[in-house]
Amino acid sequence: MNSGKYLQGDLLYEGKAKKVYSVKNDKKHLWLHFKDDLTAFNAQKRGSFEKKGAINRDIASMIFRHLEKAEINSHFVENVGERDMICDKLEMIALEVVVRNFVAGSFAKKFNLPEGGRISGGIVEFYFKNDALQDPFVSDDQALYLKTARDQRELETLKRLALHVNRELIDFFLALRVDLIDFKVEFGRNHDGDVVLADEITPDSCRLWDRNSHEKLDKDRFRRDLGGVGEAYKEILKRMREVHGGM
Ligand code: ADP
Ligand code: UDP
Repeated sequence: MNSGKYLQGDLLYEGKAKKVYSVKNDKKHLWLHFKDDLTAFNAQKRGSFEKKGAINRDIASMIFRHLEKAEINSHFVENVGERDMICDKLEMIALEVVVRNFVAGSFAKKFNLPEGGRISGGIVEFYFKNDALQDPFVSDDQALYLKTARDQRELETLKRLALHVNRELIDFFLALRVDLIDFKVEFGRNHDGDVVLADEITPDSCRLWDRNSHEKLDKDRFRRDLGGVGEAYKEILKRMREVHGGM
């Protein structure tokens, strides 16, 4: 496939939700292809729905554009085709950075708390991005020992950026009548060594609850066999277009 400006190169990596290609004659960019696949519990549970890749590509790119206006730099360059994105090639930091605004998921389980309690200000957690180890939680010192982050300053940068993304996204989703319960982001370093937001922000990587009904509009519908997975993702994109359309 090509987009005029960019030519799709070789497949470099196939992940659970995306395929990563090089861009021909271009070392600075990557070509991300969003698949229809859905996985949970470290890929032990697998599924898919039609157009999921296209929906997530559109959601992610709208969010990156929105964050750019708040001066949060991301890897996003431009969309190509229906479900592909050109982005800056980064040296990825092998941490999943989770921010929580409400008790849910593994946090609820770990501390035996009911889901839905507010965590004011938001808290940040680091997980070591390693499928074989099932992405274990790591302390700052463990992350430094594993050399995932360069130094404590870089960890502080990750926390600061994650909380900035959080503040922007809380308002972004509130405008859609949706509470941002928690989310995961990944970061990488650009040529200058600056930390930049990467990967994706989509209903795969966020918990999104309808403000009034508390209905789940994210991957928990798949994880917990609630049905209506595709409808929930479509509903998020529909509300985004209604409220933040024209981006
Ligand atoms: P996973 O690897 O967890 O299965 P995906 O299927 O989403 O996830 O694969 C996308 C891969 O691309 C991830 O490993 C992610 O860290 C990596 N990635 C995302 N953005 C960039 C980027 N800008 N530069 C380099 N790698 C990236
Ligand atoms: N998350 C993610 N990828 C992961 C683990 C978590 O995108 O590999 C997201 C998840 O969708 C949720 C947030 O990070 O929005 C917090 O997830 P949690 O630690 O509660 O784990 P879970 O119970 O979802 O596995």
